[in-house]
Amino acid sequence: MNILAVGCHPDDLEIGCGGTLARYAREGYCVSICIVANGNMGHTVIQPAELRAIRAEETRRAGVLLGAVEVVSLDMNDLEVDAYRAETINKLVDLIRRVQPDVILTHPPEDYMKDHVEVSKLVFDASFSASVPHYLTPTPGTAKITPLYYMDTVAGVNFIPSEYVDISATVETKMQALNCHESQIKWMRDHDGIDFLDFVRTVAKFRGLQCGCTYAEGFRQCKTWPRLSTKRLLPG
Ligand SMILES: [Zn+2]
Repeated sequence: MNILAVGCHPDDLEIGCGGTLARYAREGYCVSICIVANGNMGHTVIQPAELRAIRAEETRRAGVLLGAVEVVSLDMNDLEVDAYRAETINKLVDLIRRVQPDVILTHPPEDYMKDHVEVSKLVFDASFSASVPHYLTPTPGTAKITPLYYMDTVAGVNFIPSEYVDISATVETKMQALNCHESQIKWMRDHDGIDFLDFVRTVAKFRGLQCGCTYAEGFRQCKTWPRLSTKRLLPG
């Protein structure tokens, strides 16, 4: 299977589904990572242009640790992600046609800030448009309307998973990949007093508690026609 994970900011996929992506990769599936926003606003001291470059490198390193075959950035500025912007939609439609995913993972529609909500809508719309032959992008051909899974919200607030993935064997890889985002982890620790590694591990432990394993990630399937399947598409 080909897996496409579309996250908003550079560290969001590690937070929401890093353990699952590592499992897909270990089990021989082809994992592609797409980041929509470049993370240029995620600091109070480092200026946006420099931060954009730092976070691109952090994202690349994290992607290698997770076992992704590629990390693609749509390079929108933070707080400017817009699900109706044609340029962004076209880039994502083209990526979907190139990757030909069997499953897509992204943010749920009710996540905590606008960029995340926009990405959720962007993925839902682009993954439909990718199936329409007369919607032209550089990559020829179309893709099927792909099954879509929503990953957890930040801190798991207002998110009831319908499926779980046991990440007990990959949780340390998830944490190492998250730790690649040093500009965020260190900044939150030094300026906000938040141990974000512990924050994310706590959510994974809580999701594990719910489904009877040590660590888990929770997902909810997007239940619209024709995205449903008789197959388990998340790692079993
Ligand atoms: Zn984010």
